[in-house]
This record gives sequence, structure tokens and C-alpha cells, in this order.
Amino acid sequence: MNLVVLVKQVPETTNIKINPETNTLIREGVSSIVNPFDMYALEQALKIQDEHGGKVTCISMGPPHAEAALREMLAVGANEAILLSDKAFAGSDTLATSYTLAKAIMKLDKFDLIICGKQAIDGDTAQVGPGVAEHLDIPHITYVNKVEEITNNQIRVHRMTEEGYDVILSSLPALITVVKEIGEPRMPSIKGTLRARKTKIPMWTAKDIEANERMLGLSGSPTQVIRIFSPEARSGGEIIQGESASEMADNLLTRLMASHII
Ligand code: FAD
Repeated sequence: MNLVVLVKQVPETTNIKINPETNTLIREGVSSIVNPFDMYALEQALKIQDEHGGKVTCISMGPPHAEAALREMLAVGANEAILLSDKAFAGSDTLATSYTLAKAIMKLDKFDLIICGKQAIDGDTAQVGPGVAEHLDIPHITYVNKVEEITNNQIRVHRMTEEGYDVILSSLPALITVVKEIGEPRMPSIKGTLRARKTKIPMWTAKDIEANERMLGLSGSPTQVIRIFSPEARSGGEIIQGESASEMADNLLTRLMASHII
């Protein structure tokens, strides 16, 4: 089974700084972590590997220091890692990011299942996984909280919903995005950490993945963040009092009618 885990390096949430001119993240001098949901994605890949064998390849697109995120994945148990890094990728929105990742996956010999976190904790869109699947023209299932069964050509999963879960059967190759309920990520071992230090991580550029330059980075990104700001704290508000729920509802109704809101 050839498993691919997509890994994003993200700033530690408390340290996020935005360049006010470009509205992009200032990554220099900011400590970074692996997107926490991607650790759950790796855990699921390793569970499948434990049962069925095969190979786990982690791919990340980011600046050269995103290599650290990949080394962390190798320390936990991934077999191989590839970093996609090129100035041409800078400023990518989710469309350009998913195109770039899909082009890299196409360069792999074979893949059966791609696993992503449900979302990244910085951009937070949850669009990259489904975007990659669309570029590869394969099925995708989001918010997976359990892989019930996987065979050579199909997968059955539980997809978390507000009321419970759906059971979904899909052909392979496919892409899933996982939630924390999938299972607690394992810790890196000493052997894994030593191996991770020595493993060579290839760095692929736009040329290596044979990408169309116009679909990369800012030029391939229809979405551009115009402004990022914290909402202003609002004071005031009104508390409608009452002895019981029905009295409060009556008081609210009187108040709304008095203001001609209804
Ligand atoms: P998500 O789609 O939330 O990530 C889901 C999963 O996809 C991750 O768990 C991971 O498995 C995989 N993944 C995501 N990115 C990578 C990567 N670089 N390498 C490997 N795997 C990856 N872009 C827009 O198009 N629209 C916006 O409105 C938008 N708003 C943004 C707001 C902020 C504050 C920031 C910092 C960025 C924003 N971006 C936006 C850009 C967006 O963060 C990038 O396009 C990013 O590469 C992917 O989107 P995401 O972080 O939302 O990832």
C-alpha cells in the first residue's frame, strides 16, 4: 500500500505576524510546528502500514525550513519525505497549493491513498485536500474519524457529521482528510529520530514537477487576501431579564416591538 501524507508547517499560533503590505505571513524568525492535524494524518497512515505493509511518503510545500516538519514525520515513522520549495510557489492560495501538491504526487511511482489533516491551523480553509483530489481526478472523503476497512482497491470509512457519522465506501486511489478522533498520534522513537537526522530529503522545484508556471504562486492564485485584522471589541449589548424563559421571551418581544424591529 503506497500512502502519501500531506504536511504543512505552520507558525505557532501565538506568534503569527502578518506583513501589512502583502497580507502574507511573515515566516522569518517565527517558530514553526507541524500542523497538528497532519500528525493525526500520519498516525492513520502508519496504522494502515502496520496492518498492510507498504510505504509512507510525506510531502510538504513550503520554504526550505519546512524540512524540519518533514524530519519530525520521519522521526515518528514515515519512510520518505519530499519538500516542494521554489520561489515560484510563493504567495500560493489554496488552488495553487493544491495544484502544486497534485503535480508532485503525479511524479510518484504509485499512490493508493493520500491523507491530509482536516485543515491547517493558520489558513484554516480545509480546501487543500479536496483541491488535490480534484486535480488528480480521484474521489475524496473529508472529516474521516475512522478507517473501518481498506483493501487493495477500496476503502470504507466513517465520516464525522454533526449528528453522528456517515459510512462511506470509495474506490482507491482516493484522498481522505482526518479529524482528531482518528486516534492519538504516536511519539517519535529514538531510532526514528536518529534515522530522520540522516535521511536525505529531496527538494523538488517547479521544473522537477513539470508544473505550468502560470498556475503557481501568486500568478496561479485567484484568491488574494486583501486585509487581515482582528475584529474590534464591541461593548454594550442588552440583557433581557425575566423570572422564567417565557417571561424573558415576552420581554424580548416587547423590546423588539418597541424598537420597531418587528
Ligand atoms: P487547509 O486547506 O486548511 O489544509 C488542509 C490540509 O491540506 C493540511 O492539513 C495538509 O494536510 C494539507 N496542506 C495544506 N497546505 C499544505 C502545504 N503547503 N504542504 C503540504 N500539505 C498542505 N488561501 C485562499 O485560497 N483563500 C483564503 O481565504 C486564504 N486565507 C488565508 C488566511 C490566512 C490568515 C493565511 C495565513 C493564509 C490564507 N490563505 C488563503 C492561503 C493558504 O493558507 C495557503 O494557500 C495554504 O497553502 C493552504 O491553505 P490552508 O492553510 O487553508 O490549508
